[in-house]
Amino acid sequence: MTTAVTKAQPADYETLLRSQSYIDGAWVTHPDGKNFAVINPANGLVITHVPDMGAAEAFQAIESAVRAFPGWRQMLARDRGRILRRWNDLIVAHADSLAMLLSTEQGKPFAEARGEVLSGAASVEWFAEEGQRIYGDTIPTHKADARVIVTKEPVGVVAAITPWNFPSSMITRKVAPALAAGCTVVLKPAEDTPLSALALAVLAEEAGIPAGVFNVVTASLASAPAVGEVLTTHPQVRKVSFTGSTEVGKILMRQSASTVKRLSLELGGNAPFIIFNSADLERAVEGAIGSKFRNAGQTCICANRIYVQDGIYDEFARLFTERVKALKVGAGDQPGVQVGPLINQPAIDKVMQHIVDAQAQGARLLCGGAGHEAGSLFFQPTVLADMTPAMRISREETFGPVAGLFRFHDEAEVIRLANDTAYGLASYFYSRDLGQVFRVAEALEYGMVGINEPLLATASAPFGGVKESGIGREGSHYGIDDFINIKYLLVGGLSVTP
Ligand code: ADP
Repeated sequence: MTTAVTKAQPADYETLLRSQSYIDGAWVTHPDGKNFAVINPANGLVITHVPDMGAAEAFQAIESAVRAFPGWRQMLARDRGRILRRWNDLIVAHADSLAMLLSTEQGKPFAEARGEVLSGAASVEWFAEEGQRIYGDTIPTHKADARVIVTKEPVGVVAAITPWNFPSSMITRKVAPALAAGCTVVLKPAEDTPLSALALAVLAEEAGIPAGVFNVVTASLASAPAVGEVLTTHPQVRKVSFTGSTEVGKILMRQSASTVKRLSLELGGNAPFIIFNSADLERAVEGAIGSKFRNAGQTCICANRIYVQDGIYDEFARLFTERVKALKVGAGDQPGVQVGPLINQPAIDKVMQHIVDAQAQGARLLCGGAGHEAGSLFFQPTVLADMTPAMRISREETFGPVAGLFRFHDEAEVIRLANDTAYGLASYFYSRDLGQVFRVAEALEYGMVGINEPLLATASAPFGGVKESGIGREGSHYGIDDFINIKYLLVGGLSVTP
């Protein structure tokens, strides 16, 4: 018989696999027993059920975060840092089981899942340190008998809403800086992947994060709007940090307006990946494969439009297609697999629609183009050539293993094409012409530019977008600013003479 989990399970797997939400330091079920299934996308089997919480439970979680805030805030930054450091150590120690859980609920290959767990831990490690460096300021005074002092304070209770494509690292990237700054958090993880969030809560509890400081409220797709509404309108939630679609980001932004909350939004992208004639072709092929097919193309920073200059277009298309054909598709727990299943049927439908639309408008299929024999949510890695700006892939995130190749002639043309989108998250280009490197880097209207390098995300660098890709930055020393209020103290009446 097939089971939802096929790989041999490490001893700690069962401890980390939870079927309850985590509110106020307690593992809780829905009061009426309402729950929803978490499915393994590789085989369609139910892994477990988790509570389908609603507005009332979101409210309770917020109240617990409100109660926990004064104590957590008053703790020395160094002591909070020590607890976060323990959380990091526990995540690293349990990386195999966390990765197995992640791969089972999300589909990505085990090695990628492990990489994500460790990169998520790196955020915790980074902010465990960074929380101790939230420095204030003194400003030269404008009055002889006064002093101008700037202090920094945690914003308060933070609501975090996270997506399914990086079920572990998207959480730590928000929760770690929030906790390091002295904020408390209510997290609503994505309905497709709540298990990684709950496993992180198990380890947070073990690390000594006090009750109410970090809460995880699970909810189905149907209940997400009700939970989201409480999180974005409750007057004691001071900040909302969201990663997900631009569409939902706009809803949360509108809702947050009623109480003027601080907002961090990491939204959709439609990344251009530009290869100039001067590029190192092998490196560009390698980079495009990594950028496009990691997580089966389900990342907000993955190449969505691959622009190749005409001098190398045919050669690039040949080399790239050869590599794509060789990618191994299969369940995440199978050895050597590079491309796992997509998350659900709507994801498959969208990929298919993008391919049909491109072909109807003249795109040439170089490989793939259909479902994969590994199962109903698997899709063949696909390459389309002769793409044009009229096609849907040019405007929308495909979020699947489909690479569209566009031919271009000169630098000005490709910059115009690359910027011709409402999005502005990640962009990439390959060039060995130093003047061109700086011209193009400065002309791209994006929050991030990978130059001869496709892997942008790291705990020490600022991740985020411009335009409709969002507001705020995650990671790096900038990442903590989003969880801090600046307070200005004017101390007057100081006697100038003794
Ligand atoms: P994706 O396209 O990656 O599934 P979504 O924006 O739909 O992105 O989902 C990202 C997160 O937002 C998930 O946790 C999801 O449950 C949540 N979500 C979706 N709709 C709403 C809503 N109306 N209010 C609050 N959260 C929502």
